[in-house]
Amino acid sequence: MGEGGLARMKKRIALLAAAAVVMITVIALAVILPKTTEKSFFAMNTVCTAKIKSTDSKNDAAKIESIVAGLEENVLSRQNGNSLTARLNSNGGGEVDEKMGSYMSVLLDVCKKSGGSFDFTLGEVSDIWGFGAETAVPNPYVLYNALKRTGYEKLDISGSSVTFGDKFLVDFGAAGKGIALDEIRTYLDESETKEAVISIGGSILLYGEKNFSVGIRNPEGNAGSYVAILDIPAGCVSTSGSYERYFEEDGKIYHHIIDPETGYPAKSGVVSVTVVSESGILSDALSTACFVLGIEKGAALAAEYGCETVFIDENKTVFVSDGLRDRIEITDAAYSSAE
Ligand code: ADP
Ligand code: MG
Repeated sequence: MGEGGLARMKKRIALLAAAAVVMITVIALAVILPKTTEKSFFAMNTVCTAKIKSTDSKNDAAKIESIVAGLEENVLSRQNGNSLTARLNSNGGGEVDEKMGSYMSVLLDVCKKSGGSFDFTLGEVSDIWGFGAETAVPNPYVLYNALKRTGYEKLDISGSSVTFGDKFLVDFGAAGKGIALDEIRTYLDESETKEAVISIGGSILLYGEKNFSVGIRNPEGNAGSYVAILDIPAGCVSTSGSYERYFEEDGKIYHHIIDPETGYPAKSGVVSVTVVSESGILSDALSTACFVLGIEKGAALAAEYGCETVFIDENKTVFVSDGLRDRIEITDAAYSSAE
């Protein structure tokens, strides 16, 4: 081979090597670079969405769906007779694992601190109201008797033992979505996730090191219409509203958040409450508690837990806690700030 030929060959080898490096880099980046996956699914009686940015986003999104489905089916469901909750309800208590013990302890604390405005032993009363396909205002005597079979004061948790001091049905309807968000966050912490926004009905997990825009739903509009936008860092946001589930009878609206004192839908002048917290279970439970308690007592309860709140009342007035005052923009001219 002449000198010219040798030089040509060297050049060709160098080119091939460079091409190989480029290809390997492309393949490596494809594996390492975070991708975004968005998916919707139905669980916990509501529409859920997962938007996740991670190196394995498709798998992570699938995993998130299975966490919610598994939690519902095996732990929280009252319909599935084999779930932990259904078994506790039919046996009047029993042994629980550490996670369930801690969920129940947190909720019992909210029951106590809310003076019983939050009560997750209202299962029978909720069932009587239905709020499913067929609904009607219950017979007052039936309701009265069902109300007697409620009461968190009769629930005892010590270690892994849960004892129902009376017959009642524990119901995670007001906190299950938040519990799911906490379990999802535990999974995300162990994954390669950079950012995620997970919504389960009116409860949302914001995950990642940035600020997120979160809309507060228009109580009178459809699911995509907002009256205010929050600009907040990672955490959990939960909204309870009378518009979520209700029926109308004789021109009156009956919604699904019950005042445990009366057994009837809570009337506190509030149409929606949004609670922002580090904790999913607290944001969800407190949004329900605050709805029943109303603005003044509700905001005080949330503050006791270090949570921030946005209340919207029947006059379209928006009440914002101190920590959110610079982080909210009311975007619907029909709504105005309390100050
Ligand atoms: P959503 O289901 O719309 O997210 P909430 O988180 O406010 O709304 O929970 C409402 C559900 O919680 C009801 O459907 C019922 O199962 C249960 N519930 C109703 N009133 C109370 C209450 N005062 N305390 C605890 N749970 C309640
Ligand atoms: Mg709730």
